[in-house]
Amino acid sequence: MQTNYNEILKQLDQIKPLEYARNRNFIDGSVTRLSPYISRGVISTKQVLNHVLKKGFSPKKIEKFIQELAWRDYWQLIWLEKDINFYIKNPQIDVSQDDISQCIVDAKTNIEAIDKSIEDLYSTGYMHNHLRMYVASISTNIAKNHWKQPAKWMYYHLLDGDWASNALSWQWVCGANSNKKYIANQDNINKYTYSNQKNTFLDTSYEEIMDLQQPANFKLVSKEVLKTEFPDFEKISIDNSKPICIYNYYNLDPLWRADLDATRILLIEPSIFNKYPIGKKAMNFMLDLSKNIPFIKVFVGEFEELGIGDSEIYFKEHPLNYNYKGIKDSRDWMSSVNGYYPSFFRFWNKLKKEKSF
Ligand SMILES: Cc1cc2nc3c(=O)[nH]c(=O)nc-3n(C[C@H](O)[C@H](O)[C@H](O)COP(=O)(O)OP(=O)(O)OC[C@H]3O[C@@H](n4cnc5c(N)ncnc54)[C@H](O)[C@@H]3O)c2cc1C
Repeated sequence: MQTNYNEILKQLDQIKPLEYARNRNFIDGSVTRLSPYISRGVISTKQVLNHVLKKGFSPKKIEKFIQELAWRDYWQLIWLEKDINFYIKNPQIDVSQDDISQCIVDAKTNIEAIDKSIEDLYSTGYMHNHLRMYVASISTNIAKNHWKQPAKWMYYHLLDGDWASNALSWQWVCGANSNKKYIANQDNINKYTYSNQKNTFLDTSYEEIMDLQQPANFKLVSKEVLKTEFPDFEKISIDNSKPICIYNYYNLDPLWRADLDATRILLIEPSIFNKYPIGKKAMNFMLDLSKNIPFIKVFVGEFEELGIGDSEIYFKEHPLNYNYKGIKDSRDWMSSVNGYYPSFFRFWNKLKKEKSF
């Protein structure tokens, strides 16, 4: 995966927002694969939006694409308002086990397209949105796993891990952040993944799937403990005559306060990564992206352990930064609409009005 900033910016020119609405649900659809950069805060949803508008696309014609960008802001705004580790709207019903089924972790669900997408997730760190929905649905609604452990498993392996989009989408699929469970049958999976599998546990009508008992092969659960491996780092000495800019897993923006003569530190707090573990690929991806920021230094430890004297500290606002002290810069949202909206479309209508789309 490309990590050079200029190369990342070039990918903005590859966006095909007109085709997007028509084919984005197919595995070979015109999706952008920009989420790893947006999640890591290298580029923002606002930057992507401005880029496509500047190219002359009419907002009305590319509404679906803009809407999907807005989903990202919407989930992030909910994280600011609510504890998303708990049910947002309803308790998840019909749960048999807290852990993730072993056969999902092993990519052996017996649904070929799903198993391939899990293997691809392990090798590339990416999974198409529709496949994420299928996997989450099988895991929660068919295998009756509680949503949280499977969500953490997916987050661990994704390069675009974003706990807001992740946790809230898992809760949406299992009916905890929506009013009904999301289910797809084999015909639906076959259509969007170009497969032709028959006689699987999903090869049935929607009415029957709703009443499906947990298939036997999903009973065994994984007891694997997800752990973050922390990188080695050199002891840093802090020049107290300069301000300090703090970067982290959710802010690796090379343009942020670039004019400031500052010490730049990538802060990797074990307390965050123990709560929300990430795999080695995701850790290396973050470290590689941080190289776009000149002279950045890595520090593994808590904010309080940085040993900052009188220096002025700058950071970007984020729900995982509540312990930071200093000057909090705002993130680059697509609009000024904020707060908790129980429905995406209420949020979207307000955003649309503000932007005059
Ligand atoms: C169970 C589940 C777990 C998910 N976990 C994550 C996660 O950890 N991190 C993450 O970034 N996204 C997550 N998503 C949302 C979505 O799947 C990805 O953002 C999208 O697939 C990224 O690929 P892309 O950049 O090619 O998207 P595109 O389709 O090209 O969309 C462009 C951008 O719009 C935003 N976007 C598109 N779809 C969504 C969506 N459904 N929700 C929020 N934003 C969206 C993303 O920023 C994306 O980069 C999850 C979805 C589900 C169903």
